[in-house]
Amino acid sequence: MAEFMNISDTVTDFARSLFDRVSAFEPAGQVKLCGTVSKISDNVARVINLPGRCYGELLRFSDTIWGIALDLEENGVGAVLLNPGDTVCVGDMVHATGHPVDTAVSDNVLGRILSPIGTAIDGKPFKPQRYAPIERPAPGLISRRPVDTPMDTGILAIDSMIPIGKGQRELIIGDRQTGKTTIAVDAILNQKGKNVICIYCAIGQKASTIAQIAQTFEKNGAMEYTTIIAATAADSPAMQYLAPYAACTIGEEFMKEGRDVLVVYDDLSKHAVAYRTMSLLLHRPPGREAYPGDVFYLHSRLLERSACMAHSEGGGSMTALPIIETTGGNISAYIPTNVISITDGQIYLESELFHSGVRPAINTGLSVSRVGRAAQYPAMRKVSGLLRIALAQYKEMAIFSRFGSDLDENTKRTLAKGEKLTAIFKQTKSRPYALSEEIVLLLANQSDIFDIIPSDRMQKAIPSLLEYCKTHIPGALKIIDTTGDMDQSVQTTLVSVMKEWAAEFAGNL
Ligand code: ATP
Ligand code: MG
Repeated sequence: MAEFMNISDTVTDFARSLFDRVSAFEPAGQVKLCGTVSKISDNVARVINLPGRCYGELLRFSDTIWGIALDLEENGVGAVLLNPGDTVCVGDMVHATGHPVDTAVSDNVLGRILSPIGTAIDGKPFKPQRYAPIERPAPGLISRRPVDTPMDTGILAIDSMIPIGKGQRELIIGDRQTGKTTIAVDAILNQKGKNVICIYCAIGQKASTIAQIAQTFEKNGAMEYTTIIAATAADSPAMQYLAPYAACTIGEEFMKEGRDVLVVYDDLSKHAVAYRTMSLLLHRPPGREAYPGDVFYLHSRLLERSACMAHSEGGGSMTALPIIETTGGNISAYIPTNVISITDGQIYLESELFHSGVRPAINTGLSVSRVGRAAQYPAMRKVSGLLRIALAQYKEMAIFSRFGSDLDENTKRTLAKGEKLTAIFKQTKSRPYALSEEIVLLLANQSDIFDIIPSDRMQKAIPSLLEYCKTHIPGALKIIDTTGDMDQSVQTTLVSVMKEWAAEFAGNL
C-alpha cells in the first residue's frame, strides 16, 4: 500500500510539473500571433484568441486574403477583409502581422498606378523599394511655417480670386458633373516643369474614369511626376477607406525630403460612404445620416497631415485638394460642412453656371481661400484687386436689368464689362494658363482693352491676344514668369502692345 502511495505521489508530481511546463510554454514566431475566425459575414470577420492586437493592424487570413483589425474587443477583434473572398470560413486560422497597414514609398512610385497597399495595378512590373505605415500623426505646430508661396493651378479664376498656397488645403465642392475632377486634373497638369510631385487619389470611381484620367496625364506629359492611387468602385470598402491615407503617406515621404507635393483626394464623399459601410457592418452605432460618430476624425486626421514645413524641417510642403460631391447644391449637409470646417477654403462649383456654359463653373461669391493674398505673386496682386467686387456688381445688375430695357449708360457699361470679365474666366479643360498669360488677360481687363471688342467675339479674342503678346513681347512675358513680378515699364509695354492688338483685331472684324 505504501509503495502504491509512493507511485501515486510520483505520478501526481510528474503531472503537476508537466502542467507547469505546458502552461509556461512560449511558442516561437508566427504561431504566437494566431487567432481563429469565429464568425464571418459580409466580408467582416470576428477573430478570437488573437493576442497582442493593435488598431489598424494588418491580419493575414490566407496567402491572398488580408484584413485590417478595426474593432478591438475584450474577447476578440472585428476585422474587415481588404480583398473579399468566399474562402474564409469559421475556424480558419488568422495570423497577426504585428504592424499596421503600410504602402510602397520611394521615387519609383512616380508614373505608376498603384493600389492603396502598394501593388501595381497598371499591368507593369513594380518592385517597391520601401514601405511606410499609412497612418501617421500630423506634423506639430513648431515644425510648420505659415503658407506664403503660391501653388499655381493655371486656372485664371482660381489663381486670381481664390489663390491657393503651398501647404494649404482647399476643398473643391459641387454637385455631380460640375467639373470638380477637371479642376484638380488641370491643377496637376499645370505643375509640369515646376518641380512639384503630384498624387491623384481616386476613391470609389469607375476604372474607366481612372483610365481616362491616366490617359490625360500621359498625353500632357504629367505622368512622369504623378502617382495615381486607385481604389475603384469594384474594390472593397476597406480598400477605399485606406486609399487617401496611402496617398497621404506617399506625399509625406516626398515632403520630408524637402519637396513640394500636391495631393488630390477624389472624392472624400465616397470615402465617407465606404467608412459608413464598414462601420455598419461592424455593428457600430449609426449617428447622423447613419455615419458613425468619428466620421469627422476620419477626414481631419487625413487633412491635418498636409503642411508647409519649417526650413529647419526641410522646407517641403504638401498641398491638398480634397473633393466633395453635394446633392442639389446643398453645402450644409453633414459631410460637406465637416470638410469645409477642416479645410482652409473652398471652391464651390454650380450646376447652373456649368450648364449655362460658364466653365469652370466657380461661384465666386461662395468660394473663398482663407490663406488669401499672402499666397499670390506680386504681379497677380497688382491686377486682381477689384475682380470679386466687379463680378458681384455685375451679377446684381444683371438680375435687375432683366426687368427693363431702359438702362442708363453707366449701367450698360458695367454690364458689358462684367460680361467680358466672365468671358475671360471661361477656360477650356486641359489648358492651364502660364502666370504671364493670366497677367496679360487681367491687365487687358484692367486697362479696358476689350472695350472695343464685341462680347460675342471674346472667345476668339482671348487666344488671339495671348498669341499676339507671345510673338511681339516674349521678353516681358518671360520676366513675369521668372520673377513673378511686373514693374511699371513692363506694364506700360504690355498695355501699349495690347492696344495695338485691339486696333488690329477690331479692324479685322
Ligand atoms: P463627377 O461628379 O462625375 O465626378 P465632376 O464634377 O468631377 O463629375 P468632371 O468629370 O470634371 O466633373 O466634368 C464633367 C464633364 O464636364 C466632363 O465631360 C468634362 O469634360 C466637362 N468639363 C469640365 N470642365 C470643363 C471645361 N472647363 N471646359 C469644357 N468641358 C469641361
Ligand atoms: Mg469627378
